Amino acid sequence: MNIETKIKETIQKNKLCNKKEKILVALSGGKDSTVTAYLLKKFGYKIEGFHINLGMGDYSEKCLEAVKKLCGELRIKLHVYDIKKEMGSSMCYLRSAIQSRKSLKNCAICGVIKKWILNKEARKLKADKIATGHNLDDEAQTFLMNIFKGSPELSANSGAITRNISDKKFIPRIKPLFYVLENDVREYSKKEKLPVIYDKCPCAIDSYRIQVRKFVDGLSNEEKMNIIKNMDKMLGSQRDDSSKDDSGEPKIEKKETKINYCEVCGEPSRNEVCKKCELMGVNS
Ligand code: SF4
Ligand SMILES: [Zn+2]
Repeated sequence: MNIETKIKETIQKNKLCNKKEKILVALSGGKDSTVTAYLLKKFGYKIEGFHINLGMGDYSEKCLEAVKKLCGELRIKLHVYDIKKEMGSSMCYLRSAIQSRKSLKNCAICGVIKKWILNKEARKLKADKIATGHNLDDEAQTFLMNIFKGSPELSANSGAITRNISDKKFIPRIKPLFYVLENDVREYSKKEKLPVIYDKCPCAIDSYRIQVRKFVDGLSNEEKMNIIKNMDKMLGSQRDDSSKDDSGEPKIEKKETKINYCEVCGEPSRNEVCKKCELMGVNS
């Protein structure tokens, strides 16, 4: 099955979005988010782009240029969030300040802050969904990382669409590339000559994910797909004929995650203080 058909099928089977919704695509400048935006636009969805300029020197400049080029060529409205202007410092500085107090990897910190920004800004822009470019390899890595850390429950809300969270302040996240192998995304982006930055992020050097990535890279495509199939099964989201509801539609098991609002910033959080405020030491 080619990548376009696979993504269409993922969107339909998992009811990721419809053509009336406003979808904000989180654009990094990399191949995955670029292909996500390109195909959602091609399929006729109402999308806008959102880019976080992390202020990480030349790399961030190149990413911003690529995103601007893509949005210009495809006529996608682009919103740029400049972290230096909005939060007072670049991601490198924010991260070093946090790492002087907590022993955490670069991506763990960056990921929490980016998610916080995305949800908050998507809500301001009245987006119905946030689309990210996570592919099958990313998801297999995350699932294995959670298992290796002894916390498989951290994958409970994973899937092509965020599950089990319904809250007016939380914007659901969708991953149209969830069932697409990374190599297929790379090939497609080259075939379509999309403006993509293929360089790796310079700050990902010490990431635990890189170790897991090496392991996943050594697996066959079938083995990678089996990880995702089993993850779906374990999480009770496998749609099959034996689980249809009264209307004949496949049923998704639901176990709602309780959402609070962060006492400091007011954003949705599982705990009294959200992860971003906890990291930034603004919990008092
Ligand atoms: S690779 Fe890691 S540090 Fe770089 S942008 Fe992504 S999450 Fe942030
Ligand atoms: Zn907070």
